[in-house]
Amino acid sequence: MDCIFCQIVAGEIPSETIYQDEEIIAFRDINPLAPTHLLIIPKRHIPSLTHLSEAESPIIGHMVNIANQLAEREGISQSGYRLVINCGEEAGQIVPHIHLHLLGGRRLTDNFG
Ligand code: AMP
Repeated sequence: MDCIFCQIVAGEIPSETIYQDEEIIAFRDINPLAPTHLLIIPKRHIPSLTHLSEAESPIIGHMVNIANQLAEREGISQSGYRLVINCGEEAGQIVPHIHLHLLGGRRLTDNFG
C-alpha cells in the first residue's frame, strides 16, 4: 500500500484527524494554504474523479455534507469557504486518492489558474 492517504486511513502515518465515519475521514492539510485547510477523503482508495463509478458517486455528496458541517465547526460558514477537488496532473492533483479541499478563514482570490 503505497498511497499516502490510504496509510493515513490505516493509521500508519499520523494525521490531525478531526472527523471520521465508516466511509470517510477528514484531517488538516499538512501544508495549509488558508487558516482552515482540511482534506475530506473516502476511506476506499479511488485514485481520482475520473475513476469514480456512478455507483460510487454518492460518496461525493457525503463528503460535501461533512465539509459543510466542518465549516460550521471551524466558524467559517458565514464568512465563506471553498471546496475544491483537483483531478489529474494539469489540475494540480498530486496525491492519487480523491480528496476534497475545504479552504477558508481568509479572503480567497478568484485565481483558478
Ligand atoms: P492535491 O494537490 O489536490 O493532490 O492536494 C494534495 C494535498 O495533500 C496537498 O495540499 C498536501 O499539502 C496534502 N498532503 C500531502 N501529504 C499530507 C499528509 N501526510 N497529511 C496531510 N496533508 C497532506
